[in-house]
Amino acid sequence: MRTEKLYIKGQWKDSAAGDYFDVLNPADGSLVGKMAAAGKEEVLEAIAAADQAFEEWSNLPAQVRSGYMKKWHKLLQEKEEIIARTLTAEQGKPLEEALGEVRSGTSYVEWYAEEAKRVYGETIPASSSPKRIMVLRQPVGVTAAITPWNFPASMVARKISPAIAAGCPVILKPEEKTPFSAVEIIKLAHEAGIPKGVIALLAGSAELIGDTLLEDRRVRKITFTGSTDVGKALMKQSADTVKCVSLELGGHAPYIVFDDADLDKAAEELMGVKIKNCGQTCVSANRLYVQESVEKELVQKLSEAFSKIKIGNGFDKDTQMGPLIDGDAYRKVQEHVEDALSKGAKLVTGGEGFHKGDHDQAGYYYKPTILVDVTADMKIMKEETFGPVLPIQRFTTEEEAIQLANNSRYGLASYVFTESLNRGIRVSEKLEFGIVGLNDGSPGTAQAPFGGFKESGLEREGGHFGIESFLEVKYVSISMK
Ligand code: NAP
Repeated sequence: MRTEKLYIKGQWKDSAAGDYFDVLNPADGSLVGKMAAAGKEEVLEAIAAADQAFEEWSNLPAQVRSGYMKKWHKLLQEKEEIIARTLTAEQGKPLEEALGEVRSGTSYVEWYAEEAKRVYGETIPASSSPKRIMVLRQPVGVTAAITPWNFPASMVARKISPAIAAGCPVILKPEEKTPFSAVEIIKLAHEAGIPKGVIALLAGSAELIGDTLLEDRRVRKITFTGSTDVGKALMKQSADTVKCVSLELGGHAPYIVFDDADLDKAAEELMGVKIKNCGQTCVSANRLYVQESVEKELVQKLSEAFSKIKIGNGFDKDTQMGPLIDGDAYRKVQEHVEDALSKGAKLVTGGEGFHKGDHDQAGYYYKPTILVDVTADMKIMKEETFGPVLPIQRFTTEEEAIQLANNSRYGLASYVFTESLNRGIRVSEKLEFGIVGLNDGSPGTAQAPFGGFKESGLEREGGHFGIESFLEVKYVSISMK
């Protein structure tokens, strides 16, 4: 049983009010540990420290910031097993998958350690001879970062690394259910010598921490990953002080399989993107659209694969899929499946869950489930289910598939499977999504832009795009003699 502290001004601190909350293992409800909760004074202390650190950190040569980040990256690589074990304990995903998440997060630290050195300005030809036009890119300032429970390690690394590479101090608030992965990652940032005030970790009441950060004029940016509803609320709150806002929100990814697709590949890649994290990912394949002539064959392949998935505690070697995060998540999955069945969907496999242990908020498992004959009016085709359920709808024409896929308020990830290059490019161009996986079920990578259209978000993480949202553009107009 561990007890972890807040990280403010380069020091690990107990909760000033003596306020600690429990962190449970979603596999069985056992207590993983206790986490210190921050009060308003501690949030203000972290803001003041970040504000103080900003000038010095942002004025360091990029090579020096990069050097700190490279040390951090090395430590993250060395300690990946410890972080992964922490992640599995508090989040539930299988250990191998947790290790994959840690490596993914670590790759962002490496990428942005390099990208820090490539923040280029511009010179623009002026319209008259004594004039010169110079454009500088400068860090936006103190940044608040709020992260979710479904990727509690990689989201932390993905947010902090471009911010500090750009020169912005970051105050992180991880999700209450999963703060310990963030603690492990920030312990290593401390060990790497990243100066005090550049990174802070505050856990506790989301409203109190969120409100205090957002009301404060010294905080110039918020970067948020989480649900669309909370993202919209934070965006509204940011309006009063006109903060820069980056939002990585919910998704409802369509997975389109045409009759000329390699069905084995389509099925295999789908297993990866659906079963991963028990279906609790923003890029999970939430709606499978299959061309009618290949529906039977694809459903058969998927049904065989789904029914073989081993469900259990993420620490068990043969576990392929862990628990849902909590009882609320379980009830939402159940509700979506029941709603679909009541409106005429047919169950192919799964359709039920089970509970382990005696905690009413943990130990919830749901069997990988396939539903066919679903229609657009079912909840499961409109809202994120965030569980291992695959609803399948057939289509006839390419135009129909595009129309069905785009008929969503979300626009994060989408997937297209076809062996026709022409069709693949045509459809990719018409999809209203920030990410298209063309014959690819796992497009996410540090060097590429990740983010959504419509209500899935604003701005991008990853690649050179990711650092740009932490930079202001300054135009210097020079009139020479
Ligand atoms: P959530 O409920 O929106 O919570 C996300 C974070 O926001 C948590 O740290 C939460 O804190 C905090 N929060 C909640 N209310 C707040 C408030 N009033 N002020 C400040 N902070 C507040 O989302 P979640 O359930 O953790 O995560 C799942 C969602 O994230 C899904 O919709 C998923 O699609 C999305 N997601 C998107 C991406 C992407 O890259 N687009 C990646 C991963 C996940 P507490 O919970 O501690 O109260």
